[in-house]
Amino acid sequence: EEAAAYPYPHVPVMLREVLDAFAPLAVSSYLDCTLGAGGHASEMVAAHPELRTVYGIDVDPTAHALAEPRIRAAAAGRQGFELRLLRGNYRDLRPLLATVSSPPPQPSAILMDLGVSSMQIDTAERGFSFMREGPLDMRMDPSAALSAEEVLNTWSEAELGRIIRDYGEEKLWKVVARRLVQAREVEPIRTTTQLVRAVGQTQIGGKLGKGGKGAKGVHPATRTFQALRIAVNDELRRLEQALPDAIAALAPGGRLAVISFHSLEDRLVKHAFARATGRPTPEDEHRTYGADKFAFLDELEASRVAYLVTRKPVLPSGEETERNPRARSAKLRVLQKLGGSGG
Ligand code: SAM
Repeated sequence: EEAAAYPYPHVPVMLREVLDAFAPLAVSSYLDCTLGAGGHASEMVAAHPELRTVYGIDVDPTAHALAEPRIRAAAAGRQGFELRLLRGNYRDLRPLLATVSSPPPQPSAILMDLGVSSMQIDTAERGFSFMREGPLDMRMDPSAALSAEEVLNTWSEAELGRIIRDYGEEKLWKVVARRLVQAREVEPIRTTTQLVRAVGQTQIGGKLGKGGKGAKGVHPATRTFQALRIAVNDELRRLEQALPDAIAALAPGGRLAVISFHSLEDRLVKHAFARATGRPTPEDEHRTYGADKFAFLDELEASRVAYLVTRKPVLPSGEETERNPRARSAKLRVLQKLGGSGG
């Protein structure tokens, strides 16, 4: 389990690296798109005495309740300090910021720390964990319509197979999808335990869930749970929509830092960052050869609005992954918006 001495339910991942990414800037306003327990946010407040406004987005109202007192404590005594808690999806960060002021504020630092919080995982009734008996919910936003139970019991075998393959990166996706459909024909799959049992039956010669990077000791149901969670919360599409808006929202000279936990997330971040920094993405492939190649590359270069602070993703230290297993798959990428006073 995680560091027992840590007094809060969620240990912020890559905290040192995130603080380092923003350290060279004068951060007057900070937008946290995934506020969670406010771990990163309160440490940002402590590290930046010049910080006056924190905007905190989360879809999960329990996050705000945990984060607020922590951030206020970190800012105690600071003149003119303001905390704006914004309840909603970071996909809507533009309209959410527009509710604050007109024109909307331009934060000089933005953080996205993707995925689930330890509070969400540890709350059995929310159904995120195969280690806890609970209903198959998995909604980060408790007011959202789609639950994991609905996905499992109504989506076609082909659709289930696709998410288990793409979002779960499960090699035996066909087998798992087949067994899920067989199980639900007997009785609807309503609890985490039922799901674990259905997936467990697919353990052919103990192969399921083995293999892959760092997969030692991974439970056979891990990948299927991850796939369902990503599907229920439409995580990849929301991230893809939010990234260009986050870059657009930044103040000139401001920085965006994104921590991803999954190769599909990291790929979206990498591509959005490439686009913003005037580099071709795989989508542009057909335009990067032939006679028009240089005109196209010039066009990209002319459209760039940011530069990469991290050429390669930054990984957590071995010490951190020892201490906090949730950090194992984390990757941090940072970019800086052009302009500003060269901060
Ligand atoms: N950085 C936080 C800390 O140190 O306490 C932890 C953040 S936790 C990993 C991710 C948070 O993002 C969760 O509270 C989750 O509800 C929220 N979240 C996930 N997807 C979201 C989305 N699309 N829009 C808004 N919040 C989201």
